[in-house]
Parts: sequence; structure tokens; C-alpha cells
Amino acid sequence: MKKKICILGSTGSIGKTTLEILSQNKKDFEVVLLSGNSNVDLLISQARKFKPIYIYYNNFYFKDKIQTFCKKNKINLIDNLKSLKKIKFDITISAISGIAGLIPTLDVIKYSKKILIANKESIICGWKFILKELNKFNCKFTPIDSEHFSIFNLIENKNLNSIKYIYLTASGGPFYGKKIKLSKVTPSQAIKHPNWQMGKKISVDSANLMNKVLEVIEASLIFKLPINKFKIFIHPQSLIHGIVQFNNGLSSMLYHYNDMKIPIINSLYNNLPKIQNIDEKFLTEKELTFSDVDLKKNPSVKILKLRNILNESGFILINALNEVLVQRFLENKIRFTDIIDKLLLILNSTFVKNYLKNHQIRHINDVFKLYNLSRSLVN
Ligand code: NAD
Ligand code: MG
Repeated sequence: MKKKICILGSTGSIGKTTLEILSQNKKDFEVVLLSGNSNVDLLISQARKFKPIYIYYNNFYFKDKIQTFCKKNKINLIDNLKSLKKIKFDITISAISGIAGLIPTLDVIKYSKKILIANKESIICGWKFILKELNKFNCKFTPIDSEHFSIFNLIENKNLNSIKYIYLTASGGPFYGKKIKLSKVTPSQAIKHPNWQMGKKISVDSANLMNKVLEVIEASLIFKLPINKFKIFIHPQSLIHGIVQFNNGLSSMLYHYNDMKIPIINSLYNNLPKIQNIDEKFLTEKELTFSDVDLKKNPSVKILKLRNILNESGFILINALNEVLVQRFLENKIRFTDIIDKLLLILNSTFVKNYLKNHQIRHINDVFKLYNLSRSLVN
């Protein structure tokens, strides 16, 4: 029987890659739910091609157009995943960008047998709540951020006590090794990633290594290991994605060509060997290099040393401030270097330290309260 698929964020980079895989494997999958945001034309053309039963869409501005399309094509339009009835998706892909993905991710778990989460911001801000829903509804989880997918596979069936360190690799972004005045960098330069085609927000995060800071936090939550068990290597070829160093002197690393299709297709097929035509580009680059992060050039990584903010509320604050600052940079309101300068300034402020000491996250609303507070801290 075909597997029923739900994609949150189908019009984004991860969503489009997933649909490309599904269209090449129509015999195995049926797309049941698509969702997007401002890119309505693309969402409509995806719906024409994949004929889903549902479109999940809650952007007020383009609602009329999508409503007319859904009516004409007998597609159920929903603006809240809670209104789904009697449906179980075999696999859901959570690929909305930013904290906007958190509530949809939480809501969809109830209707999913398995969820593949790319949306790292929702893990960073709401892992505790996600985990609760996964257990409650017996939904399996696989991370598809490539580093986490690699580690997930490398430590499967291993005792956490046997792990000495876990290394996440970073390409170094578009400015690595280049003589360029970072304060003058424009949004279009910052989003030109050397190895991956990704959405704007994650591309900016990759350019200043904030993506790796977020990924270390994401990994520490998923794998239940403290932040100081993780290290970052610059690996410009982006071919090794995760390295696990064990206490017995052995280390394992996972190699795959730098195409998100590989973690996604393996997660869709549970790593089955029948997957074809994806190894064509094996070891095209013969030289794999690894180096330490230069903290002077990448001050974002200093965040991982701020011990008094590396807690549940602190993670939300780091993520929220970064989302707001990246947005400001993309709107040309602040400079590229301001993103991390301002972030560090706010995180090191007495106000934040005191706030974090006195506030805990008990309810999902607390996450959004903190998010709103962080908006007010960025001036
Ligand atoms: P993207 O910007 O290309 O796509 C984002 C998707 O989310 C789009 O479909 C958009 O319509 C939807 N969206 C945005 N705001 C929304 C809102 N308020 N409500 C509903 N939908 C909304 O982003 P992407 O590069 O595909 O990344 C998606 C997520 O996956 C991010 O969290 C990113 O960190 C993570 N990720 C991406 C990659 C990659 O290669 N692109 C790799 C690893 C992890
Ligand atoms: Mg990644």
C-alpha cells in the first residue's frame, strides 16, 4: 500500500526536495497534505501535480486565491491542523522555517505514525512538548537535518556513556577563507551558500555559523547529551556530516554527498538498501579537510560557552533573537555583523541573566511569551 505523506512547508527548499523524491517514487507514496505560506502560486502548482486531499494554509493575505482553487478542485482547505479528522499520515515532513513551525509540528504528531523533522527551530524551542506528543501518540521521529540524521544513524543501539565527543561539521559558509569585509556583506551575498541550496534564513545562519550553534543545541536536546559533549569542525567539502568519537578509541563518521535528498530519502525508506541512483557522486572530492573554528572570525560560536544561558529558556531566547535579527538583516535594516554583535550583547546583559534565572518554561504559551519578549529586546 502507498504511504500517506503530509508535508508542512512544501513550497520551501526541503519541501521541494521531498516532492522531487516523491514524484520519482509514485508507486510508494501518496501526497495527502501540502502546505505553504506566501508562495501561493507554487503551492497551487504543487497541488495540481500531486492532488492532495488537504491543503493547510493560514496566511490571511492570499487566502482568497487558495480558497477559490481548493473549491474548484475539491481539495479540503484547513487553516488549523486540529481540524483534521480520522486521518493517519504514514510519514509527515516538518519543514516550515523558524518558530512558525512549532505549533503545526505539535499539532500534526497526533495524526502521524512517523515524523521527519527538518525544522530545527521548533526542536530548539519546544523539544519537551514535541517529545510529550511523540510519546502520547506513539509517533516515531527521525531528524533530517543532515548532521543529526548522521549522528542518529551513528549512535543507533549505542550506549550514551560510550560517547566521548560528537563533532558537527560546518562548511564555513560563503565567506570562509575569503578576504571580504563582513560588515559590508549584502543579503544576496550571505544567502549564496557554497554547497547547499537552502531557504534564506538558514543560509544567513550558515554564513555566520549561527546554524551550527543552533544545531549543537538541537543535537544536545535530541540526543540527551550536554552541550560540552559537542564540538564543531570546519569541513568545507560538506561530505562528512557527523563524527562520533567513542571512549574506546574508535570513531565513526558518516559520509554522504551534500544533497538533502539523501537524508530525506533514507528517512522515507527507513534506510532500505533498495534505494537507487543516489551514489553516483561518491568520493568525487578526494581530499577531505577538517579545521577548528576561528572564534575571532565566527564570534557566534562563543554562545556555546555562555554557560548561564544554555538552558531551556536560554535556547528559546537565542533562537528567537536570532530569528528577529536575521529578518532585520534580510530587510537591510542592520549589517551582517550586527546579527551576532547584537545577539551577544543582549545575551550577556544583566537583564537577560536575571530573567533566565527567574523564568521557567512550563506551558507552550511560555515559549511564545519569551519569543515576544526577545522581539522587544532588539532595537
Ligand atoms: P524555506 O524558507 O525554503 O521554506 C520554508 C517553508 O516554510 C516554506 O514552504 C514556507 O511557505 C513555509 N513557511 C514559512 N513561514 C511560514 C508560516 N508562518 N506558516 C506556515 N508556513 C510557513 O526553508 P528551508 O530551507 O526549506 O528550511 C526549512 C527548515 O528546515 C528550517 O527550519 C531549516 O533550518 C531546516 N533545514 C533546512 C535545510 C535545507 O537544506 N534547506 C537543511 C537542514 C535543515
Ligand atoms: Mg544541518
